[in-house]
Amino acid sequence: MMNHWSMTQFAATIAAATGTEAPKHSAEPLPSVVKLVDRTLNGRADRVLIYNPDCIGHWFWQKYTDWMVPVQEYAPLAAPLSTMMPSVTPVCFGTMFTGAMPAVHGIQRYEKPVITIDSLFDSLPRAGKRVALIAVSGSSMAIIFGGRNIDYFLLPYDGDVVQKALELIEKDEYDVIVAYNQAYDDMIHKTAPEAPEALSAAKDNIAAFHALCQKAEECWKAHNTLVAFAPDHGNHTDWDGHGNHGEFREEDINVVHFFGTLPKRG
Ligand SMILES: [Zn+2]
Repeated sequence: MMNHWSMTQFAATIAAATGTEAPKHSAEPLPSVVKLVDRTLNGRADRVLIYNPDCIGHWFWQKYTDWMVPVQEYAPLAAPLSTMMPSVTPVCFGTMFTGAMPAVHGIQRYEKPVITIDSLFDSLPRAGKRVALIAVSGSSMAIIFGGRNIDYFLLPYDGDVVQKALELIEKDEYDVIVAYNQAYDDMIHKTAPEAPEALSAAKDNIAAFHALCQKAEECWKAHNTLVAFAPDHGNHTDWDGHGNHGEFREEDINVVHFFGTLPKRG
């Protein structure tokens, strides 16, 4: 069974939490996250940390549930979603940050043009929000939302992205920080979804999110913060034993986004 909620709801969820207009083509927000923000942040987050670990699917949480506890320590609310078809990186992130179906945002296969329709990277700056996008150079996330009124930090690989995100959280000069990591996706294609190298990359993603949230907890005390662990799609083992994704099957389509809040203190 495919998850009932959709990747098209992520953008509007962040918009609702920040009290900003949703991107023009987005679906409705995730109701459980709206309730969480209402109850714990009095309806409004003024800091948002979005961590995008590429390729971690719903099945990964079903099977490696204990490993994900550090994610849930900060982001206990699990929202099961279906991602888009074809379930490849630029198609799925295109939808995550526009809230629009692939036919509307324009990326319908593995290609990396700049998306021209309204996205969170447009709507948040329109509302006066300062946004930082930190991504691996040459990745989909580094390219498809180019040319917006935000600050881009395009770096060699995952560790550099995490270091920059820690630094930017500490400086507290951005309202919304988006950090993208890709090593798990890279490793499943090179090896297999549960090969030791791939699992180690996934563990790095979990540790990175935990470290970023810890930093936010320490440095954003004066703010109401929303944190999100938001992968783009899942993956499966292909006929040749390697990992792959892009198909309409549960392992590729079903993902879980984790959300949590850090209320202002003192
Ligand atoms: Zn991907």
